[in-house]
Amino acid sequence: MTGYTTLFLDADGTIFDYDRGEKFAMEKSLQHFSIAGNSGELLELYRRINNSIWGDFEQGKISAEDLKIERFRRFADELRIKFDPVNFSRIYLDYLSQATFLLPGARQVLDQLKNNFTMILLTNGLSGVQRNRVRLAEMEDYFRELVISEEIGVAKPAPGIFAKAWEASGSPPREQVLMVGDSLGSDIKGGVGFGLDTCWLRSEGQEKPLELKPTYIIDQITELPDILEGRIE
Ligand SMILES: [Mg+2]
Repeated sequence: MTGYTTLFLDADGTIFDYDRGEKFAMEKSLQHFSIAGNSGELLELYRRINNSIWGDFEQGKISAEDLKIERFRRFADELRIKFDPVNFSRIYLDYLSQATFLLPGARQVLDQLKNNFTMILLTNGLSGVQRNRVRLAEMEDYFRELVISEEIGVAKPAPGIFAKAWEASGSPPREQVLMVGDSLGSDIKGGVGFGLDTCWLRSEGQEKPLELKPTYIIDQITELPDILEGRIE
C-alpha cells in the first residue's frame, strides 16, 4: 500500500468527459440561435478561442466573469455574425451544466475509492456548471468538498487553490495527498508546486514532459486504484 489518504481529483478530462460535454453544449447552442455551418468546424474554432482564453485565466489575465462572455464575443467576431455574447453564454452554460457525461470507468473508480480516501474535487471550471453537473450526476457523496476556481478567485496551478483543497481535506501531511489530473500546466505543475505527489492522466499521443516530473503516469483513470494499492510504480 502507498501511504496516501487523500486525493485531489481534477474534474474535466479526468472524471468528466469534457470534450463530449462541450460538443453537446455547443451543438445545442448553435441550434438554439439558428447559426448555420459545419458544427465540427464551428466547434474547433470555439475550442481554439476557449483554450486560449482559459490560458489567460490560468495566468490571472482575465476574470472568470469576463471569460464567460469574451469567448463568445471573439467567436462571433471570427464568424463575422452578430449575436449577443451575453445571451449565447447563458444558453451555452445552461446546456454545459446539464452535460454529465463521465469518462469510461470513472464512476466505478470513485466507488472503489470512496471508503478509503478523502476525496476533493479540485477544478478550474465555472461554479454553476460544475456544481450542477456533480449534482445531476449524483456524485456529491464522493467528495468531501468541491473546490472551484471561480469561487476561490485563483486557478490551478496557483498555490492558493491547492491550499483551499488541503484545508478542506483536513490539512493532512502533504506526503499523504495525491493530485490526479489530465493537465500538465494546471494539475501537475500546481501539485508539484504545492509539494504533492502527482498522477498525470495522459491523453493519447502526449509525450512525457521534460521539465515536470509526475510521480505516476496513467492512460486511463481505471489504473488509479492499482497505483493506490502500490501495484504499479
Ligand atoms: Mg482537466
